[in-house]
Amino acid sequence: MRKRRSLVLAVGGAVSILALLAGMTTAPATGAQPAGAQAQQNIYEVLGTNSPQLRTQVANTGVDVLEAGTSTVVIANAQQLATLRSLGFTVESRGAFQRPLDQPGAVAADFPAGDEGYHTYAEVTAELQKAVSDHAGLATLSSVGKSYEGRELNLLKISDNAGTDENEPEVLFTCNQHAREHLTTEMCLRIVNRFTDGYANNASIKQMVDTHEIWVIPNVNPDGSEYDISGGRYHMWRKNRQGQGTDPNRNWGFQWGCCGGSSGSPSSETYRGPSAFSAPETRAVSNWVNSRRVGGAQQIKSHIDFHTYSELVLWPYGYTYNDTAPGMTAAEAKRFQDLGRQMAATNNYTPEQSSDLYITDGSVNDWMWGNHKILSYTFEMYPRGSNPGFYPPDEVIGRETTRNDRAVDLIIGAAG
Ligand SMILES: [Zn+2]
Repeated sequence: MRKRRSLVLAVGGAVSILALLAGMTTAPATGAQPAGAQAQQNIYEVLGTNSPQLRTQVANTGVDVLEAGTSTVVIANAQQLATLRSLGFTVESRGAFQRPLDQPGAVAADFPAGDEGYHTYAEVTAELQKAVSDHAGLATLSSVGKSYEGRELNLLKISDNAGTDENEPEVLFTCNQHAREHLTTEMCLRIVNRFTDGYANNASIKQMVDTHEIWVIPNVNPDGSEYDISGGRYHMWRKNRQGQGTDPNRNWGFQWGCCGGSSGSPSSETYRGPSAFSAPETRAVSNWVNSRRVGGAQQIKSHIDFHTYSELVLWPYGYTYNDTAPGMTAAEAKRFQDLGRQMAATNNYTPEQSSDLYITDGSVNDWMWGNHKILSYTFEMYPRGSNPGFYPPDEVIGRETTRNDRAVDLIIGAAG
Protein backbone atom coordinates (compact mmCIF):
# COMPACT_ATOMS: atom_id res chain seq x y z
CA MET A 1 0.00 0.00 0.00
CA ARG A 2 2.62 2.49 -1.03
CA LYS A 3 0.20 5.20 -2.15
CA ARG A 4 -1.82 4.89 1.01
CA ARG A 5 1.27 5.13 3.17
CA SER A 6 2.32 8.49 1.77
CA LEU A 7 -1.21 9.59 2.62
CA VAL A 8 -0.68 8.27 6.13
CA LEU A 9 2.51 10.25 6.51
CA ALA A 10 0.63 13.37 5.50
CA VAL A 11 -2.20 12.83 7.98
CA GLY A 12 -0.64 13.98 11.20
CA GLY A 13 1.88 13.67 13.97
CA ALA A 14 0.93 10.49 15.77
CA VAL A 15 0.70 8.39 12.66
CA SER A 16 3.90 9.78 11.22
CA ILE A 17 5.75 8.80 14.37
CA LEU A 18 4.29 5.30 14.22
CA ALA A 19 5.38 4.98 10.61
CA LEU A 20 8.87 6.12 11.51
CA LEU A 21 9.03 3.74 14.46
CA ALA A 22 7.94 0.92 12.20
CA GLY A 23 10.78 1.80 9.87
CA MET A 24 13.32 2.04 12.65
CA THR A 25 12.52 -1.29 14.21
CA THR A 26 12.69 -3.34 11.05
CA ALA A 27 15.77 -5.42 10.49
CA PRO A 28 18.31 -4.43 7.85
CA ALA A 29 17.65 -5.80 4.39
CA THR A 30 21.07 -7.35 4.09
CA GLY A 31 23.76 -8.71 6.38
CA ALA A 32 23.76 -11.23 9.18
CA GLN A 33 20.52 -12.96 10.08
CA PRO A 34 18.94 -11.50 13.20
CA ALA A 35 18.88 -13.68 16.31
CA GLY A 36 16.17 -16.27 16.10
CA ALA A 37 15.79 -16.21 12.35
CA GLN A 38 15.45 -19.62 10.83
CA ALA A 39 18.55 -20.68 8.96
CA GLN A 40 16.85 -23.70 7.40
CA GLN A 41 13.60 -23.41 5.52
CA ASN A 42 13.28 -26.75 3.81
CA ILE A 43 9.77 -28.10 3.37
CA TYR A 44 8.99 -31.78 3.90
CA GLU A 45 5.92 -33.95 3.71
CA VAL A 46 5.61 -36.53 6.47
CA LEU A 47 3.55 -39.41 5.16
CA GLY A 48 1.04 -41.61 6.93
CA THR A 49 0.02 -39.18 9.69
CA ASN A 50 -3.57 -40.33 9.69
CA SER A 51 -4.32 -39.92 13.41
CA PRO A 52 -4.13 -36.99 15.82
CA GLN A 53 -1.67 -39.00 17.92
CA LEU A 54 0.74 -39.43 15.01
CA ARG A 55 0.43 -35.74 14.09
CA THR A 56 1.13 -34.76 17.70
CA GLN A 57 4.26 -36.92 17.52
CA VAL A 58 5.35 -35.01 14.43
CA ALA A 59 4.62 -31.62 16.02
CA ASN A 60 6.54 -32.60 19.14
CA THR A 61 9.77 -32.90 17.19
CA GLY A 62 9.73 -29.10 17.08
CA VAL A 63 9.10 -28.76 13.36
CA ASP A 64 7.08 -25.88 11.98
CA VAL A 65 3.77 -27.54 11.05
CA LEU A 66 2.32 -25.93 7.93
CA GLU A 67 -0.48 -28.38 7.19
CA ALA A 68 -1.79 -31.33 9.17
CA GLY A 69 -3.74 -34.16 7.61
CA THR A 70 -3.26 -37.70 6.37
CA SER A 71 0.17 -36.39 5.58
CA THR A 72 1.73 -33.44 7.40
CA VAL A 73 3.69 -30.66 5.70
CA VAL A 74 6.45 -29.17 7.81
CA ILE A 75 9.55 -27.02 7.74
CA ALA A 76 12.30 -29.03 9.41
CA ASN A 77 16.00 -28.66 10.04
CA ALA A 78 18.45 -31.54 9.65
CA GLN A 79 18.14 -32.66 13.26
CA GLN A 80 14.34 -32.64 13.21
CA LEU A 81 14.40 -34.54 9.94
CA ALA A 82 16.60 -37.20 11.51
CA THR A 83 14.28 -37.42 14.52
CA LEU A 84 11.23 -37.85 12.32
CA ARG A 85 12.93 -40.67 10.42
CA SER A 86 14.11 -42.33 13.63
CA LEU A 87 10.50 -42.34 14.80
CA GLY A 88 9.69 -44.40 11.73
CA PHE A 89 8.06 -41.74 9.59
CA THR A 90 8.53 -41.66 5.85
CA VAL A 91 9.56 -38.11 5.00
CA GLU A 92 9.78 -36.68 1.50
CA SER A 93 11.42 -33.42 0.49
CA ARG A 94 9.20 -30.78 -1.06
CA GLY A 95 11.99 -28.30 -1.73
CA ALA A 96 12.94 -25.04 -0.07
CA PHE A 97 10.52 -22.29 0.92
CA GLN A 98 10.51 -19.79 -1.93
CA ARG A 99 10.06 -16.22 -0.84
CA PRO A 100 7.44 -14.92 -3.24
CA LEU A 101 8.01 -11.50 -4.72
CA ASP A 102 11.49 -11.35 -3.30
CA GLN A 103 12.53 -8.30 -5.28
CA PRO A 104 15.51 -6.09 -4.67
CA GLY A 105 14.58 -2.48 -4.19
CA ALA A 106 11.28 -3.13 -2.49
CA VAL A 107 10.34 -0.54 0.09
CA ALA A 108 11.59 -1.74 3.46
CA ALA A 109 8.64 -0.47 5.48
CA ASP A 110 5.99 -1.92 3.20
CA PHE A 111 4.95 -5.34 1.97
CA PRO A 112 7.01 -6.79 -0.86
CA ALA A 113 6.40 -5.26 -4.26
CA GLY A 114 3.07 -6.41 -5.67
CA ASP A 115 1.58 -7.08 -2.23
CA GLU A 116 1.10 -3.50 -1.09
CA GLY A 117 -2.62 -4.17 -0.78
CA TYR A 118 -1.82 -5.67 2.62
CA HIS A 119 -1.74 -3.19 5.49
CA THR A 120 1.42 -2.56 7.47
CA TYR A 121 1.04 -1.83 11.17
CA ALA A 122 1.14 1.92 10.52
CA GLU A 123 -1.49 1.56 7.81
CA VAL A 124 -3.73 -0.51 10.09
CA THR A 125 -3.47 2.17 12.77
CA ALA A 126 -4.37 4.85 10.23
CA GLU A 127 -7.38 2.80 9.05
CA LEU A 128 -8.62 2.46 12.62
CA GLN A 129 -8.21 6.19 13.24
CA LYS A 130 -10.10 6.89 10.05
CA ALA A 131 -12.93 4.55 11.07
CA VAL A 132 -13.29 6.51 14.30
CA SER A 133 -13.12 9.95 12.69
CA ASP A 134 -15.57 8.95 9.92
CA HIS A 135 -18.07 7.43 12.37
CA ALA A 136 -18.21 9.57 15.47
CA GLY A 137 -20.14 7.82 18.24
CA LEU A 138 -19.96 4.46 16.48
CA ALA A 139 -16.32 3.53 17.07
CA THR A 140 -13.60 4.23 19.62
CA LEU A 141 -9.90 3.40 19.43
CA SER A 142 -7.81 2.49 22.44
CA SER A 143 -5.12 -0.05 23.28
CA VAL A 144 -4.87 -3.09 25.51
CA GLY A 145 -1.17 -2.42 26.13
CA LYS A 146 2.14 -2.56 24.33
CA SER A 147 4.00 -5.24 22.43
CA TYR A 148 7.49 -6.35 23.44
CA GLU A 149 9.01 -3.72 21.14
CA GLY A 150 6.60 -1.07 22.38
CA ARG A 151 3.92 -0.94 19.71
CA GLU A 152 0.37 -0.22 20.90
CA LEU A 153 -1.92 -3.24 20.69
CA ASN A 154 -4.81 -1.43 19.05
CA LEU A 155 -8.32 -2.12 20.28
CA LEU A 156 -11.28 -0.87 18.28
CA LYS A 157 -14.78 -0.90 19.73
CA ILE A 158 -17.88 -0.68 17.54
CA SER A 159 -21.32 -0.07 19.01
CA ASP A 160 -24.05 2.54 19.14
CA ASN A 161 -22.88 4.97 21.83
CA ALA A 162 -19.41 3.41 21.53
CA GLY A 163 -18.06 5.79 24.17
CA THR A 164 -20.38 4.30 26.81
CA ASP A 165 -20.14 0.84 28.41
CA GLU A 166 -23.71 -0.25 27.78
CA ASN A 167 -25.25 -3.44 29.05
CA GLU A 168 -24.99 -5.33 25.75
CA PRO A 169 -23.42 -8.71 24.94
CA GLU A 170 -19.86 -8.33 23.72
CA VAL A 171 -18.00 -10.09 20.91
CA LEU A 172 -14.25 -10.16 20.34
CA PHE A 173 -12.26 -10.66 17.15
CA THR A 174 -8.49 -11.08 17.33
CA CYS A 175 -6.05 -11.35 14.43
CA ASN A 176 -2.34 -11.75 13.74
CA GLN A 177 -1.25 -13.75 16.78
CA HIS A 178 1.08 -15.37 14.28
CA ALA A 179 3.31 -12.91 12.46
CA ARG A 180 3.24 -14.28 8.91
CA GLU A 181 -0.54 -14.76 8.83
CA HIS A 182 -1.11 -11.34 7.26
CA LEU A 183 -4.45 -12.19 5.68
CA THR A 184 -5.94 -12.31 9.20
CA THR A 185 -5.15 -8.64 9.80
CA GLU A 186 -7.11 -7.88 6.66
CA MET A 187 -9.96 -9.97 8.10
CA CYS A 188 -10.10 -7.79 11.20
CA LEU A 189 -10.04 -4.66 9.03
CA ARG A 190 -12.88 -6.09 6.97
CA ILE A 191 -14.92 -6.47 10.18
CA VAL A 192 -14.10 -2.90 11.24
CA ASN A 193 -15.02 -1.39 7.89
CA ARG A 194 -18.11 -3.49 7.34
CA PHE A 195 -19.69 -2.66 10.70
CA THR A 196 -18.83 1.04 10.55
CA ASP A 197 -19.28 1.89 6.86
CA GLY A 198 -22.28 -0.44 6.60
CA TYR A 199 -24.15 0.98 9.57
CA ALA A 200 -26.00 3.79 7.84
CA ASN A 201 -27.44 1.78 4.97
CA ASN A 202 -27.66 -1.85 6.07
CA ALA A 203 -30.47 -2.70 8.48
CA SER A 204 -29.03 -6.01 9.68
CA ILE A 205 -25.61 -4.46 10.36
CA LYS A 206 -27.28 -1.61 12.22
CA GLN A 207 -29.23 -4.10 14.29
CA MET A 208 -26.10 -6.08 15.23
CA VAL A 209 -24.16 -2.93 16.12
CA ASP A 210 -27.04 -1.43 18.11
CA THR A 211 -27.45 -4.53 20.26
CA HIS A 212 -23.81 -5.56 20.79
CA GLU A 213 -20.40 -4.22 21.65
CA ILE A 214 -17.97 -5.49 19.02
CA TRP A 215 -14.27 -5.44 19.90
CA VAL A 216 -11.50 -5.90 17.33
CA ILE A 217 -7.76 -6.35 17.92
CA PRO A 218 -6.26 -6.43 14.40
CA ASN A 219 -2.62 -6.95 15.47
CA VAL A 220 -1.97 -9.14 18.50
CA ASN A 221 1.64 -9.60 17.32
CA PRO A 222 2.64 -6.39 15.48
CA ASP A 223 6.37 -6.82 16.19
CA GLY A 224 6.30 -10.18 14.45
CA SER A 225 4.29 -9.04 11.44
CA GLU A 226 6.50 -5.98 10.92
CA TYR A 227 9.59 -8.17 11.17
CA ASP A 228 8.08 -10.64 8.70
CA ILE A 229 7.98 -7.98 5.96
CA SER A 230 11.19 -6.19 6.88
CA GLY A 231 13.59 -5.44 4.06
CA GLY A 232 10.81 -5.75 1.51
CA ARG A 233 10.73 -9.55 1.60
CA TYR A 234 8.97 -12.22 3.60
CA HIS A 235 10.75 -13.99 6.45
CA MET A 236 8.35 -16.85 7.21
CA TRP A 237 8.26 -15.60 10.82
CA ARG A 238 5.62 -16.95 13.22
CA LYS A 239 6.42 -15.95 16.80
CA ASN A 240 6.74 -12.65 18.65
CA ARG A 241 10.11 -10.85 18.83
CA GLN A 242 11.05 -11.47 22.44
CA GLY A 243 14.44 -13.20 22.47
CA GLN A 244 14.27 -16.03 19.95
CA GLY A 245 10.52 -15.52 19.92
CA THR A 246 7.64 -16.98 21.89
CA ASP A 247 4.68 -18.57 20.13
CA PRO A 248 1.84 -16.41 21.46
CA ASN A 249 -0.68 -19.16 20.85
CA ARG A 250 1.11 -21.53 23.21
CA ASN A 251 1.59 -18.90 25.94
CA TRP A 252 -1.96 -18.57 27.32
CA GLY A 253 -2.47 -19.54 30.94
CA PHE A 254 -4.93 -22.42 30.80
CA GLN A 255 -3.29 -25.86 31.00
CA TRP A 256 -0.13 -24.05 29.87
CA GLY A 257 2.54 -26.54 28.81
CA CYS A 258 0.50 -29.40 30.20
CA CYS A 259 0.25 -31.96 27.52
CA GLY A 260 3.00 -32.08 24.93
CA GLY A 261 1.25 -29.51 22.77
CA SER A 262 4.03 -26.92 22.86
CA SER A 263 7.80 -26.76 23.20
CA GLY A 264 10.08 -25.73 26.06
CA SER A 265 12.92 -25.03 23.65
CA PRO A 266 13.33 -21.32 22.76
CA SER A 267 14.36 -22.13 19.19
CA SER A 268 11.17 -24.07 18.50
CA GLU A 269 8.39 -22.55 16.42
CA THR A 270 5.97 -23.55 19.18
CA TYR A 271 8.03 -22.29 22.14
CA ARG A 272 5.58 -21.70 24.96
CA GLY A 273 7.78 -19.17 26.83
CA PRO A 274 9.26 -19.56 30.33
CA SER A 275 5.87 -19.08 31.98
CA ALA A 276 2.25 -18.51 31.06
CA PHE A 277 1.71 -14.96 29.78
CA SER A 278 5.45 -14.29 29.62
CA ALA A 279 4.77 -12.64 26.25
CA PRO A 280 3.73 -9.00 26.76
CA GLU A 281 1.17 -9.39 23.98
CA THR A 282 -0.79 -12.29 25.49
CA ARG A 283 -0.46 -10.77 28.94
CA ALA A 284 -1.98 -7.48 27.71
CA VAL A 285 -4.84 -9.10 25.80
CA SER A 286 -5.66 -11.47 28.67
CA ASN A 287 -5.58 -8.66 31.25
CA TRP A 288 -7.99 -6.71 29.13
CA VAL A 289 -10.31 -9.72 28.73
CA ASN A 290 -10.15 -10.20 32.51
CA SER A 291 -11.19 -6.55 32.89
CA ARG A 292 -14.36 -7.25 30.91
CA ARG A 293 -15.60 -9.25 33.86
CA VAL A 294 -17.97 -6.64 35.23
CA GLY A 295 -19.90 -7.26 38.44
CA GLY A 296 -18.75 -10.88 38.38
CA ALA A 297 -20.06 -11.51 34.86
CA GLN A 298 -17.81 -11.79 31.79
CA GLN A 299 -19.27 -9.41 29.21
CA ILE A 300 -17.57 -11.04 26.21
CA LYS A 301 -19.65 -14.02 25.14
CA SER A 302 -18.07 -15.11 21.88
CA HIS A 303 -14.77 -14.81 20.05
CA ILE A 304 -12.97 -15.73 16.86
CA ASP A 305 -9.17 -15.77 16.65
CA PHE A 306 -8.16 -15.68 12.99
CA HIS A 307 -5.21 -17.61 11.60
CA THR A 308 -4.01 -18.92 8.25
CA TYR A 309 -4.04 -21.37 6.67
CA SER A 310 -5.97 -24.60 5.88
CA GLU A 311 -9.63 -23.43 5.80
CA LEU A 312 -10.71 -24.81 9.15
CA VAL A 313 -13.12 -23.91 11.92
CA LEU A 314 -11.63 -25.18 15.20
CA TRP A 315 -12.97 -25.29 18.74
CA PRO A 316 -11.55 -26.20 22.17
CA TYR A 317 -10.19 -28.05 23.85
CA GLY A 318 -6.85 -28.34 22.14
CA TYR A 319 -4.98 -29.82 25.09
CA THR A 320 -6.89 -33.10 25.15
CA TYR A 321 -8.20 -35.50 22.54
CA ASN A 322 -11.39 -35.90 24.57
CA ASP A 323 -14.55 -34.05 23.55
CA THR A 324 -15.46 -33.45 27.18
CA ALA A 325 -13.16 -32.55 30.06
CA PRO A 326 -13.32 -30.54 33.27
CA GLY A 327 -15.08 -27.32 32.30
CA MET A 328 -16.51 -28.79 29.09
CA THR A 329 -19.73 -30.73 29.50
CA ALA A 330 -21.27 -32.82 26.73
CA ALA A 331 -23.90 -30.12 26.21
CA GLU A 332 -21.22 -27.42 25.94
CA ALA A 333 -19.16 -29.53 23.54
CA LYS A 334 -22.27 -30.01 21.42
CA ARG A 335 -22.87 -26.27 21.33
CA PHE A 336 -19.31 -25.74 20.07
CA GLN A 337 -19.81 -28.44 17.46
CA ASP A 338 -23.20 -27.17 16.30
CA LEU A 339 -22.15 -23.54 15.94
CA GLY A 340 -18.78 -24.52 14.47
CA ARG A 341 -20.46 -26.63 11.79
CA GLN A 342 -23.04 -23.93 11.15
CA MET A 343 -20.30 -21.35 10.57
CA ALA A 344 -18.29 -23.76 8.43
CA ALA A 345 -21.34 -24.33 6.23
CA THR A 346 -21.25 -20.63 5.31
CA ASN A 347 -17.59 -20.43 4.28
CA ASN A 348 -16.94 -24.01 3.20
CA TYR A 349 -14.19 -24.52 5.80
CA THR A 350 -13.74 -27.87 7.55
CA PRO A 351 -15.12 -27.92 11.12
CA GLU A 352 -13.44 -29.97 13.86
CA GLN A 353 -12.18 -29.91 17.42
CA SER A 354 -8.71 -28.40 17.55
CA SER A 355 -7.11 -31.58 18.90
CA ASP A 356 -8.44 -33.53 15.92
CA LEU A 357 -5.45 -31.98 14.14
CA TYR A 358 -2.89 -32.47 16.93
CA ILE A 359 -2.51 -31.51 20.57
CA THR A 360 -1.90 -27.86 21.41
CA ASP A 361 -1.64 -26.44 24.92
CA GLY A 362 -1.63 -22.82 26.00
CA SER A 363 -3.89 -21.74 23.12
CA VAL A 364 -6.16 -18.73 23.23
CA ASN A 365 -9.33 -20.81 22.70
CA ASP A 366 -8.66 -23.07 25.66
CA TRP A 367 -8.04 -20.04 27.90
CA MET A 368 -11.04 -18.05 26.69
CA TRP A 369 -13.33 -20.99 27.32
CA GLY A 370 -11.58 -22.54 30.31
CA ASN A 371 -11.22 -19.28 32.22
CA HIS A 372 -14.14 -17.20 30.98
CA LYS A 373 -16.67 -19.48 29.27
CA ILE A 374 -16.29 -17.41 26.12
CA LEU A 375 -17.45 -19.31 23.04
CA SER A 376 -14.06 -19.17 21.36
CA TYR A 377 -13.11 -20.45 17.90
CA THR A 378 -10.06 -20.44 15.69
CA PHE A 379 -10.56 -19.88 11.98
CA GLU A 380 -7.74 -21.03 9.74
CA MET A 381 -8.36 -18.96 6.63
CA TYR A 382 -7.45 -19.35 2.94
CA PRO A 383 -5.76 -21.16 1.34
CA ARG A 384 -6.42 -24.83 1.89
CA GLY A 385 -2.88 -25.85 0.91
CA SER A 386 0.74 -24.75 0.87
CA ASN A 387 0.44 -22.97 -2.47
CA PRO A 388 0.19 -20.05 -1.83
CA GLY A 389 0.43 -20.90 1.88
CA PHE A 390 0.99 -17.92 4.15
CA TYR A 391 1.53 -15.45 1.33
CA PRO A 392 -1.46 -15.29 -1.01
CA PRO A 393 -1.38 -12.33 -3.42
CA ASP A 394 -3.22 -9.22 -2.28
CA GLU A 395 -5.80 -9.76 -5.03
CA VAL A 396 -7.53 -12.39 -2.87
CA ILE A 397 -7.99 -10.16 0.19
CA GLY A 398 -11.49 -9.00 -0.73
CA ARG A 399 -12.78 -12.41 -1.69
CA GLU A 400 -11.30 -14.31 1.25
CA THR A 401 -12.34 -11.84 3.96
CA THR A 402 -15.85 -11.33 2.58
CA ARG A 403 -16.13 -15.11 2.60
CA ASN A 404 -16.38 -14.98 6.41
CA ASP A 405 -19.11 -12.32 6.65
CA ARG A 406 -21.86 -14.81 7.42
CA ALA A 407 -19.78 -16.66 9.99
CA VAL A 408 -18.95 -13.35 11.67
CA ASP A 409 -22.66 -12.56 11.83
CA LEU A 410 -23.30 -15.97 13.38
CA ILE A 411 -20.69 -15.53 16.12
CA ILE A 412 -22.18 -12.11 16.92
CA GLY A 413 -25.63 -13.66 17.09
CA ALA A 414 -24.28 -16.39 19.37
CA ALA A 415 -23.25 -13.73 21.90
CA GLY A 416 -26.94 -13.17 22.60
ZN1 LIG B 1 -1.60 -19.19 13.34
